[in-house]
Amino acid sequence: MKIVRSPTAMTDWSERLLREGVNIGFVPTMGALHDGHRALIRQARLRCDALVVSLFVNPTQFGPQEDLAKYPRTLPQDRALCRAEGVDVCFEPTAQAMYPEGFQTIVTLPTIARRWEGERRPHHFSGVATVVTKLFGMVRPQLAFFGQKDFQQSALVRQLVKDLNLGVEISVCPTVREADGLAMSSRNVYLTQDERTRAVTLYKSLRAGAEAIRRGVTDGEAVQSVMVQVVKGEAAMTIDYLAVCDPFTLEPLSTVTSRVVLLGAVRIGSVRLIDNLLVTLPRRSS
Ligand code: AMP
Repeated sequence: MKIVRSPTAMTDWSERLLREGVNIGFVPTMGALHDGHRALIRQARLRCDALVVSLFVNPTQFGPQEDLAKYPRTLPQDRALCRAEGVDVCFEPTAQAMYPEGFQTIVTLPTIARRWEGERRPHHFSGVATVVTKLFGMVRPQLAFFGQKDFQQSALVRQLVKDLNLGVEISVCPTVREADGLAMSSRNVYLTQDERTRAVTLYKSLRAGAEAIRRGVTDGEAVQSVMVQVVKGEAAMTIDYLAVCDPFTLEPLSTVTSRVVLLGAVRIGSVRLIDNLLVTLPRRSS
């Protein structure tokens, strides 16, 4: 496995392979890899000839009060995981190389980034959209893999690729969960033992919302209040948002349609958790 730090060296490597007709897959990450990342890497390995994983904690997607400085960094373990999964290149650019002096361009998607995570984390998605555009330019993948865990992010990346004609196929992989249902996240290490036990309440609330829909509840607010009740039962948790949305526009739905996404973000202690569930209802035959 090659470790590449310079963006130019990364592009040179990719261009050489592209000339040979090799198809390049790409998994962008911020490191601190867990089994959710591993699933993305495995999926990519199955579908691509050459595979690049980036390990880059992108400063521009963190707000000033957020956890950039303490974000978990586990580079030796990350490289070992990548090597074990047959990754060809670990791309580890520095912040200086990504954002050299004089850097100006910011990519923004005002509509899809307006609500939910975008509302609570004002510059987050322009940071994500900018770094993804830059990484695609450096790595030149045909296919890139993202997790459903960050639902709004994956919707934004699809839109970005379409709007800017980036020519990258986006594959979104299902959320990998702990045995009790908590979505795996690099930030779960911040949870105390007690918070970790309680953290699963977010997933339970989404499940309760999905069950209400399957039982025939069609009113969006009624589904939302089912989810709210579950979280309110956990005194240690506060709600950022729990929402019933259209999976394409991410706009809230007053009436449930055949395909909805339930989005949730909560706080427990100092930790913020996000999760989501897609609910698809079988079509009724007429
Ligand atoms: P991150 O390193 O947190 O920026 O995540 C890198 C990629 O891994 C993103 O596309 C995430 O959506 C994805 N990811 C993170 N956690 C999970 C998970 N539990 N299951 C599936 N994909 C995940």
